[in-house]
Amino acid sequence: MNELQPQKYRNSCLDRGLLVTMRDGELTPEETEQARAHLAACPDCAADERSMQTASQEIYELFTLLGPSQDEIPETQPVLLALQSRIEVESRREESHAAASYSTGSNIRLF
Ligand SMILES: [Zn+2]
Repeated sequence: MNELQPQKYRNSCLDRGLLVTMRDGELTPEETEQARAHLAACPDCAADERSMQTASQEIYELFTLLGPSQDEIPETQPVLLALQSRIEVESRREESHAAASYSTGSNIRLF
């Protein structure tokens, strides 16, 4: 019963770079529409977007507390931090796997 989810949605999951670009309003209207349609149809990506926005918001609030010049913050900084926090969450979630694969030293995934 895979037909509930159209093939095109399953083949075009959004990556985090695209989610960040959309959050920053830098996608074309057409791309934004496609991304939103995918988010509506794909719970995985929707959850991804929500967690990313939450993380980014917390980071932006932190920067706001730290200094008045948040307009000058490079866009890569919140993205990297969001990625880092995601990696931490995932490695905690996969603790048993991590313990097993850590010894090989060759199983590090960023995504
Ligand atoms: Zn997806």
